[in-house]
Amino acid sequence: VTPGSLPTGLLADLEAVVGPGHLLQDPSLRAPYEVDWTGRWRGSAGAVVRPGDTAEVAAVLSRCHDRGVSVVPQGGNTGLVGGAVPRDGALVLSLARLDHLGAVHTRPDGGAAGEVVVGAGASLGAVQDHARAAGLRYPVDLAARDTATIGGTIATDAGGLGVVRHGATRAQVLGLEAVLADGTVLDRLHPPLADGLGYDLRGLLVGSEGTLAVVTRARLRLVRPPDHLGVAVVATEHVAAALQVQRHLADRLGPLEASELMTRAGLSLVAAAPGVRTPFAAPPPAALLVEVAGDRGVGEALSAAIAEVVEEVRGVHDAVVGTDAADRAALWHLREAHTERLAEGGVVLKLDVVLPEPGLPGFVEDLDGLVRDAGGSDAEVVVFGHLGVGDLHVNVLGLATGRVPAVEAAVLEAVVAAGGSPCGEHGVGRQKPGWLERVRAPGELAAMRAVKAALDPGGVLNPGVLLPPAPGAGSLAGQQEGPADHLVEDQQGQGPP
Ligand SMILES: Cc1cc2nc3c(=O)[nH]c(=O)nc-3n(C[C@H](O)[C@H](O)[C@H](O)COP(=O)(O)OP(=O)(O)OC[C@H]3O[C@@H](n4cnc5c(N)ncnc54)[C@H](O)[C@@H]3O)c2cc1C
Repeated sequence: VTPGSLPTGLLADLEAVVGPGHLLQDPSLRAPYEVDWTGRWRGSAGAVVRPGDTAEVAAVLSRCHDRGVSVVPQGGNTGLVGGAVPRDGALVLSLARLDHLGAVHTRPDGGAAGEVVVGAGASLGAVQDHARAAGLRYPVDLAARDTATIGGTIATDAGGLGVVRHGATRAQVLGLEAVLADGTVLDRLHPPLADGLGYDLRGLLVGSEGTLAVVTRARLRLVRPPDHLGVAVVATEHVAAALQVQRHLADRLGPLEASELMTRAGLSLVAAAPGVRTPFAAPPPAALLVEVAGDRGVGEALSAAIAEVVEEVRGVHDAVVGTDAADRAALWHLREAHTERLAEGGVVLKLDVVLPEPGLPGFVEDLDGLVRDAGGSDAEVVVFGHLGVGDLHVNVLGLATGRVPAVEAAVLEAVVAAGGSPCGEHGVGRQKPGWLERVRAPGELAAMRAVKAALDPGGVLNPGVLLPPAPGAGSLAGQQEGPADHLVEDQQGQGPP
């Protein structure tokens, strides 16, 4: 299917399903759906269709399936690996209108304080507010909360700021409703409590990045909000000291609610924005932000533990503790503003990776040199991330497009060499299918391809995302052939050279 060439009969059918206002064909209306949040991934859509409920999603999918037309599910379009960006004139299936928020139910059992059923298009922030209004909390949180959708966070198994305490999105999904490529609706919203029979379809769909089915509704676990919170930012000489501080504080205070790493380049960028309150005279080489929960005395307990850390851990420069809401927010801003500040500086190469603890400090220390040696001598490297789970966001600014493949390969090779994973919480998307082959055994990849072929035999759902081409295959299963598209990453995102 080439850009603008979706079969006329199909467009008329889709319009009959969703109504004329929800089939977008005009280039100016399609445009925001054709480029990602960073501006790095661009493509072209034959049209954008915006169904209003599960039945409409099913009708759209079955009509596309019958005609072999590729469909790219899209939520808030905040994903950072190009997975929601259409290519070669595929149809964008926007889930934004499925934003229903069901009633919050409290539950007496220990696994969850409550639960709620929401539409896939509800924003993360709307779900958080909805839970908060009922005295509970949805524990997934990330800086794109006002735009990212529940469906997108499920499809990417988003981690985020609370991952060290509550786990990634997978741990919050109690039930799912989803639609297969051929329009079959799978209703696993309320599986029986003793649901040990058969395959775990819910588990299979979380993290499948829109390649196996379209998520339409989810039943989510809610937790009790902490009574009191304390936040500290500890300035250190290097990342190794930040890791030691993290260990010490977790031993002393119990599970941390959040544990985030920042480094000098990122802190300098954030501090340069007008009106930002910075706790240190000059940005330190590394800084650890920790949040802890507890009773009324949590602030004192945190301050006492921080005093010990300053005394006992070598390489700690300074520390600041915030207990009231304004101080906590000011400290969190230092970390949360990173992605937006980076985006203001132009198109950024983003590599989200996971490192095991022993290799993590050395990896960060070597990054500048690695990037320079791979041809990025003019580039600036900003690294930050969820230290509690070893997930690092490597950002390379000011890199000429032609240098991207070499720099990407050098950084990801170093991750693999350190025993880490080149694919972190942002997923695989269009950026890293080839890298999946480096960390998944051939048998596992064959099993994944078999699952894809069974659930989406026509290969219409998100072709080119997540799975690398099968050995010997010229193109990804189901990928439409067509003239060169404008996907900026076309030549760059398939993996190791
Ligand atoms: C400022 C900022 C901060 C971020 N911080 C974090 C972070 O801390 N942790 C983290 O993990 N990510 C983070 N991200 C990345 C992003 O927000 C997450 O990946 C999020 O889960 C994407 O949600 P979305 O609705 O925007 O999905 P989209 O970008 O629209 O889609 C992402 C993928 O999911 C698929 N998809 C979307 N909706 C559905 C559906 N209903 N059914 C099936 N497939 C679907 C798409 O096809 C695509 O492959 C951040 C992004 C930004 C811009």
